[in-house]
Amino acid sequence: NESIEFISIQEQLDQFVLDAKKNTTSGATASYIPALKKANPEHLGICLISSQGTFLKSGDTDHCFTLQSISKVFSFIFACHTRGIDEVLQYVDVEPTGDAFNSIFRLELSHPGRPFNPMINAGAITVASLLPGHSPLDKVEALLSFFEKMIGRKPSINMDVFHSEWQTANRNRALAYWLKETGFLLGGVEDAMEVYLKLCSIEVNIVELAQMGLILAHDGLHPYTNEQIFSMEIASLAKTLMLTCGMYDYSGRFAAFVGIPAKSGVSGGIMAAIPPSARVTNNRFACWGVGLYGPAIDKHGNSTAGVALLKRLSQEWDLRLI
Ligand code: GLN
Repeated sequence: NESIEFISIQEQLDQFVLDAKKNTTSGATASYIPALKKANPEHLGICLISSQGTFLKSGDTDHCFTLQSISKVFSFIFACHTRGIDEVLQYVDVEPTGDAFNSIFRLELSHPGRPFNPMINAGAITVASLLPGHSPLDKVEALLSFFEKMIGRKPSINMDVFHSEWQTANRNRALAYWLKETGFLLGGVEDAMEVYLKLCSIEVNIVELAQMGLILAHDGLHPYTNEQIFSMEIASLAKTLMLTCGMYDYSGRFAAFVGIPAKSGVSGGIMAAIPPSARVTNNRFACWGVGLYGPAIDKHGNSTAGVALLKRLSQEWDLRLI
């Protein structure tokens, strides 16, 4: 019985992926980071893992890609885990902006200069400066070890992408200098840039991304190792931020029409956390993590095929949170 259900879910997923692939042509690979431009815009692959062991994969599933802005979720989680939520929120707010991810203009408007949320670049650069450790290397290493607890291996950093970004990060440096000026960045600007850009360059595959989404969906508790990686309170805060700010200046529409906490990156990755009430299978108690990769992105910075696929999954399988 369960295997019949499983096969039909797999068949449906394959069809949804085929259909969503048509949307790859309406996007393009990120051109402002030279190393990302080289990706194949026609790729689309997805992985879903449930807390009860169901595993689904479809499309182009074998690629590694950099986390880019998806890393913002975990640097925020790790900063809260090590410093406590209250302290972190003194440096970064949790208010959506509706502006582009790299927008600079609101920083001067917000008195006294606290970045609006940790999912935009300004907030994430601040958070990078709050991570534990003295040198940029220590901070990055600490976060990589945190990832190891979630995915079972220490991910590597794609140095090609890192160098590519390091050389072209004028706008991010401008944000960092402004944050330093207003007192919302600890330590030096170049150190914070190094940490922030290395975290963006962490490389994973869709299975690992789905695993990370699953731990979030499962409130910080790793469903297989049974380790509480971060608290339920932090998981809930991170998922709220994903729902309200996770898809850049498309977050409101994504929440309205897809309705699940998700975070995208300009590499074309999207991670989503599907709560237990969702009806993917008849088992109403399973929660799901989703990892997908489709490097053709739209003007907001979201994978065009990825957003189309998540919309379809949400409608057909009734995944909505609200
Ligand atoms: N490294 C990218 C940047 O800072 C991350 C942005 C993103 O994924 N939206 O520009």
